[in-house]
Amino acid sequence: MKIILLGAPGAGKGTVAKMLTKLDGSVQISTGDILRGAVQAGTELGKEADGYMKRGDLVPDSLIMGIMEKRLQESDCQQGFLLDGFPRTIPQAEELNQLLAKLGIKLDMVVNIDVPRDVIFDRLCTRRTCENAKCQAIYNVKSNPPQQEGICDKCGSPVVQRADETQEAIAHRLDTYNQKTAPLAGFYEKEGLLKTITGTSSDLVVSGIQKALGK
Ligand code: ADP
Ligand code: ZN
Repeated sequence: MKIILLGAPGAGKGTVAKMLTKLDGSVQISTGDILRGAVQAGTELGKEADGYMKRGDLVPDSLIMGIMEKRLQESDCQQGFLLDGFPRTIPQAEELNQLLAKLGIKLDMVVNIDVPRDVIFDRLCTRRTCENAKCQAIYNVKSNPPQQEGICDKCGSPVVQRADETQEAIAHRLDTYNQKTAPLAGFYEKEGLLKTITGTSSDLVVSGIQKALGK
């Protein structure tokens, strides 16, 4: 499947994407994971992106498009992909359309995961992430803590609060989302690709997507 997942930070895009990869071998492409990996590795890309990310600002469109142009041409994308956190602005969506046309790729669907703002804020404040760039497993201190406090179940690395998950940065990320990313729903509605799924259960979001794909 070739799907874009839209939704606020904390809506569950990453969780849903991971569940979908198990269904048919499509790959999850998370621009946030790629950028955090680059910051940790100290690459040029990481150095450029770090300050924007810490503040909860978007990194410049040109950096993101450079990453995605390469990533979408890697061979594991042929089976399908789940775009998680990209596109995030109208210019990114327009450039993605051009890129997909050039590569001869057609999207199946754009899924907008719609979760109430109070739920989102609470989730982000209690979210914890494995700091190993190759793992980045997600936990929640209230609803899904690791078995041993502060240690990742999957890889044994420390589980930490992300640098952009202070109350201040979270509030800023949600404002940025409303201003820059929310308009993408209208953009893809016009293209006839949008499917909005309201609800806080990732299981129900996944079954909604399967149904919409006719599977
Ligand atoms: P969340 O969806 O929880 O905000 P992500 O992991 O998707 O987290 O993104 C973390 C940060 O990485 C964003 O706040 C932003 O700084 C940067 N980022 C990720 N994807 C993009 C993108 N497509 N365009 C611009 N910045 C991005
Ligand atoms: Zn881990």
